[in-house]
Amino acid sequence: MHTSPPAGQHTVRRHNCALVLRAIAASPGISRAGVAARTGLAKATVSSLTERLTTAGLVAPTGPQSRAGRGRRGTGLTLSPNGPHGLGLEIGVDYIAAGLADPQGELHAHRVRHGDNRPRSARQVLALAARAVRTALRDAGERGVPVGGVAVAVPGLVDSGTGLLRTAPNLGWQEIDLVRSLRERTELGTLPIATGNEADFAAAAEFLSGGAEGPRDFLHVSGEVGIGAGIIIDGTVFRGVHGHAGEIGHLCVDPAGPPCRCGAPGCLERLAGQEQILQDAGIDGGAAEQAMRLLLRRLEAADRRAVAAVETAGRWLGTGLASVINAVDVPAIVLGGTYATLQPWLEPPLRAELDRRVISAAWSPITVLRSRLGSEAAVRGAAAAAVQAILDDPEPYVATREQGTG
Ligand SMILES: [Zn+2]
Repeated sequence: MHTSPPAGQHTVRRHNCALVLRAIAASPGISRAGVAARTGLAKATVSSLTERLTTAGLVAPTGPQSRAGRGRRGTGLTLSPNGPHGLGLEIGVDYIAAGLADPQGELHAHRVRHGDNRPRSARQVLALAARAVRTALRDAGERGVPVGGVAVAVPGLVDSGTGLLRTAPNLGWQEIDLVRSLRERTELGTLPIATGNEADFAAAAEFLSGGAEGPRDFLHVSGEVGIGAGIIIDGTVFRGVHGHAGEIGHLCVDPAGPPCRCGAPGCLERLAGQEQILQDAGIDGGAAEQAMRLLLRRLEAADRRAVAAVETAGRWLGTGLASVINAVDVPAIVLGGTYATLQPWLEPPLRAELDRRVISAAWSPITVLRSRLGSEAAVRGAAAAAVQAILDDPEPYVATREQGTG
């Protein structure tokens, strides 16, 4: 049994543990003396903390090793590639995806199970989601890596405080406790489970994939059945007070327009979403993936009806996004999901609306970029968020490992 140290001491240790891991993550190969210099901590404190982080599997030595090499003086330190992985789960409208992110945020064992979730009950979909989690846990076991946390991406409003899914209009879901549901159906035990909007996770993944060269402030807009958007300000997702910001799909672009699944008329996603584009292009029925492939073939063959359908969507999208940019002043738009695929046809009419409607466009032109992540953005972002939560605050994970082995 461990006895807890006094709260103050525990808080300091937790803070220092995070400080040391951050220094190692920022400078792979850094020495203990380097960590001490960088953090301002005493060398003895750094040694004891790196020992704990190494034992917990978060940190590994670099460079030549003797058999008893661990902890040798002068050995460089790095994040262990076999350290805790994040398990990302995405419950989409017409698929369920899961994957594992390593401590560098790279996605592994990405699996997608296609199938329309709308005719299924929430209970059925959650059972499929639990199955995807169990498969991902098995994948982690086969790779010999531990799972340190889980994050679930959903196409709906998630309360940042409680993690409750309030509504997912395209799934017809209301008030779902995703965390409890997954705990009941899987062997996740006490692993931390975070929940969030899929578009926010996708936007975060887009920021990470851009690296130092990518934009730090942008609007990530992804078209699937719904339209998801995430607002990135200075490299961080802007979530709003309750975590509900970025519901751009339900921006009204035509008050006299057709009814949206949310109940209101003329929402952007009703007019510029994937289903409307396919319908306008004269492609109906069948699996979404096949329909999109057919649309792309027709666009490449300059089929007039297909081109007109995408151009109409581009105009509505530009109309909606211009309002968002007028409100929040971000200099770039990244097109993700289906919109990334349709970008060559979508962008010209979209840009024309931006030029016409963004009041500051003459002085601060808007850059339109295409995401390189494709449909895996949200699950990649969720998995990376789960692992980043451990890197930001490693003490709970380290303590769990110590209890598990001690
Ligand atoms: Zn709506």
